[in-house]
Amino acid sequence: MLLPPLFPNIPPNSIPMKKNVIIIGAGHAGIQAAASLREEGFEGSICIFSEDADFPYQKPPLSKGYLDGSQQKNSIMFRSETWYENNQVELKLGELVEKVDVPQKTVHATSGEYAFDFLVFATGAYNRELPIPIKGTDQPLYLRTMKDADYLKQALDQEDVQDILVIGGGFIGLEIAAYAAKSGKKVTVVEYQPRLMQRVLPPMLSEHFAAKHQAYGVDLRMGVGVQDLTQDSKWLASLSTGETVTADQVIVGIGVLPSQVLAQEAGIRCSNGIEVNEYCETSAAGIYAIGDCALHPNPFAKGQMVRLESVQNAVDQAKAIASTICGKPTSYHQVPWFWTHQYNLKLQMAGLSEGYDQLLVRGDVEGDKFSVFYFKNNQLIAVDSINKPADHLQARKWIQASYTPDLEKLADDSIKLNEC
Ligand SMILES: Cc1cc2nc3c(=O)[nH]c(=O)nc-3n(C[C@H](O)[C@H](O)[C@H](O)COP(=O)(O)OP(=O)(O)OC[C@H]3O[C@@H](n4cnc5c(N)ncnc54)[C@H](O)[C@@H]3O)c2cc1C
Repeated sequence: MLLPPLFPNIPPNSIPMKKNVIIIGAGHAGIQAAASLREEGFEGSICIFSEDADFPYQKPPLSKGYLDGSQQKNSIMFRSETWYENNQVELKLGELVEKVDVPQKTVHATSGEYAFDFLVFATGAYNRELPIPIKGTDQPLYLRTMKDADYLKQALDQEDVQDILVIGGGFIGLEIAAYAAKSGKKVTVVEYQPRLMQRVLPPMLSEHFAAKHQAYGVDLRMGVGVQDLTQDSKWLASLSTGETVTADQVIVGIGVLPSQVLAQEAGIRCSNGIEVNEYCETSAAGIYAIGDCALHPNPFAKGQMVRLESVQNAVDQAKAIASTICGKPTSYHQVPWFWTHQYNLKLQMAGLSEGYDQLLVRGDVEGDKFSVFYFKNNQLIAVDSINKPADHLQARKWIQASYTPDLEKLADDSIKLNEC
């Protein structure tokens, strides 16, 4: 059954662009796409389907301010209810899109079938599950949604929950470990790689973060795998070293996988993500993929196909496709950036440091206020800044403009950064 238009009360002649956009996913990418379409003057209908029944919210605070209680639910919502009403952006919350029919240009959702002119996959990613035997009645905890965060907070804040095992030494696992350690819990982190956040940080920064976690009493087990988990009165984890760790709660943060099955089943080309071109358009014309789910050619990775899991990527890709849909073809060309907060360490990353052949450290390492500059073939490719927000902003400008500062000046702390 094909349902009537999404805004049946609006006479057709009040919608000059008689097109409609369906967005699947109400995360950073989906909500920004709707907002940017309206900012660009798009007057057709916009409908966002969200499997998540909660009013659309930002995910980064879930492992930071929302977890430690410094940010409340209403402060992490993207937009107010009034904004959606005023901008005629229809939200279909708690509605899973089950099928996309590319030739018919329809989506099949829980409540029926809807036609589209343009379709945007903003389906994000889902947590990779621990591929080991788990015995017991409960499951370890994961964090992706607000419901997960509510459950996690409640579990961690219990008096009788003292021993915490975090599996995975990436950003999310470590932010949770930091919260638990600061709350006085006894935390063990088990990481398969030899160092923390190895995929994205150089050894020096991994060690800096490791030292901070250890200063808060976190027991770091590096280069170690968990082989099985058994829950009895406590959790018991068997490690690849032959040792065991007991815990009251186990939290898993071992990365995410792109939500691409829907696109794949619709015949859209996918591999490690939904494949898109520089306009974030998929292999099907008029159908876009943005945010965590999109495998895209990134100019800051020398045009290689990458999938980035960051707010910046979701937001900037959304802006690009909104312009394109509104008739101004806009390729995605923005410097990648990211951040994480652990204890007093606020790390901001600009650019992609993979493949660097030289690095330079500037600032006060012991005082936790410094930046690491990465070069490849004498060109600046990335900068990681700890508690140096001004360096981070300067770095983004430089990398966007393909500017490489003078190394000798950069090495001299007495010369201002913007004079290098
Ligand atoms: C705890 C946590 C902390 C983070 N911290 C940071 C940080 O500090 N800095 C940073 O840059 N990034 C951070 N991230 C990553 C960042 O939140 C993501 O990169 C960003 O949310 C991606 O936005 P998105 O819209 O692409 O995907 P998502 O936010 O994942 O949204 C996708 C939505 O699509 C919905 N969906 C999927 N399939 C369907 C379907 N078939 N039908 C209907 N709905 C569907 C999902 O339910 C989901 O709500 C963090 C993520 C988490 C989970």
